[in-house]
Amino acid sequence: MASKVYYMDDRAKAIQDSLVAKMLTVFEAAGLQNTISPGDTVAIKLHMGEYNNTAYLRPVYARALADKIKDLGGEPMVVDTTTLPYTPFASRTTALDYLNTAYRNGYTPATLGCPVIIGDGFLGADDVRVDLPEGFILKEQYVATAIAMADAMIALTHFKGHPMGVYGGAIKNIGVGCASKKGKYNLHMGGHPKYGLNARPFYPQLCKKSDCASMALCNTVCPENALHISDEGIIWQREKCTGCSACFGILVMCGVGFIPDDYFDSAAAAMADSAKAVMNTFKPGKVGFINMAIDMSPWCDCVSFSDRSFLPNLGVFASMDPVAIDVACLDMATNSYGVPGSIAEEKGVMEPGIRKLTSCGSVIGVDEMIQPNTGEKNGLGKKEYELITVPQPENVLPFLPSMKTVGIKLRPFYGIEHVMPEGGFKRKLDVDLEEVRGNGVGLHGKTHPSKAH
Ligand code: SF4
Ligand code: SF4
Repeated sequence: MASKVYYMDDRAKAIQDSLVAKMLTVFEAAGLQNTISPGDTVAIKLHMGEYNNTAYLRPVYARALADKIKDLGGEPMVVDTTTLPYTPFASRTTALDYLNTAYRNGYTPATLGCPVIIGDGFLGADDVRVDLPEGFILKEQYVATAIAMADAMIALTHFKGHPMGVYGGAIKNIGVGCASKKGKYNLHMGGHPKYGLNARPFYPQLCKKSDCASMALCNTVCPENALHISDEGIIWQREKCTGCSACFGILVMCGVGFIPDDYFDSAAAAMADSAKAVMNTFKPGKVGFINMAIDMSPWCDCVSFSDRSFLPNLGVFASMDPVAIDVACLDMATNSYGVPGSIAEEKGVMEPGIRKLTSCGSVIGVDEMIQPNTGEKNGLGKKEYELITVPQPENVLPFLPSMKTVGIKLRPFYGIEHVMPEGGFKRKLDVDLEEVRGNGVGLHGKTHPSKAH
């Protein structure tokens, strides 16, 4: 039987159409409230955005979800984990770095109404080992303690592109995002003799250290001290490399280090294995998924910039199946037009029917279906889905900030002090609006009310 995926688009003409309201509506439609029992500790798992990334999910979604979880009797916490780090500079690689970045991005206990927790501890070593005999490539994984100990989890995911997984969806949000730092070394193939960065082709003869602006980085970036610059140029002690990725971009750019064959493919498969390990730390029925397919930049929220979205906003999805929800998003992306001026135009994939994530998220030609295919193989979920469009609710009351109307609220204040000036505002009695009205182009043949008589 196909897994059910519930969906609302992103068009809005009323209070119930706010994306926050739609997120809560699909939450209910998909039965995600049944994942939470009174007294449960509930992780809201999301990516709080890299330093200077601007496409990550606005904190209001997590806040609304935290309020909802409290209404259901649960105790929410917003959780993410430390990074490998992936880049030369530390902005999320210890809990301290991450909290500073999260607070800068607007994710604070004050905005969320609940604690923000870096689930794998200060350095990323706080984890629980999970055996994974069903794994396609990983046979064990290390899950952040705060996730493994939680009673329930709502994975609130920003669906977008990703340079390694090709897309970032529900599978990646939990597969990578719930893994501790040790777990991230594991799934990024750190130390793997065939797929790991330690196995990458290396061409020291291409090092142009004398006129290289990045030379200082090569001496300081490696946490294992495996890289340094000698009089002859770059020296790399391959056996010391754990595959943390900090030097990855630098060495690819100058051509000295390249990408091992199947590095991205194996890591994309490992993301789905890792996601299965994370699910194994919960009782059945205790994890729900929401995918917000909006602001879809090609390179994830893990980078310190956000390219123009290459797809129009698709909407909000909810499901109990992380594989099905991702495939539903991928299919809708495929069937959408690309955004003019984005990477979709650059790659010539603007028309519906072309797989947008494979075309736009991939750096070196990795297929978007690796994560779902692996997720189906290891028992994480099903690719077959039934998409159910959820109607707009008629009742606006659940989406209002307060039941007090403005009349009830303001009358007593205005009785004490009114904001209107006593003698009225200083304004002209009459003006010729024809001087500023414009030529009416764009009114689609409708007559401006002033010209109707
Ligand atoms: S390895 Fe590359 S980045 Fe490092 S000094 Fe040489 S040319 Fe520059
Ligand atoms: S050499 Fe290996 S361990 Fe050192 S920075 Fe590069 S990827 Fe990380």
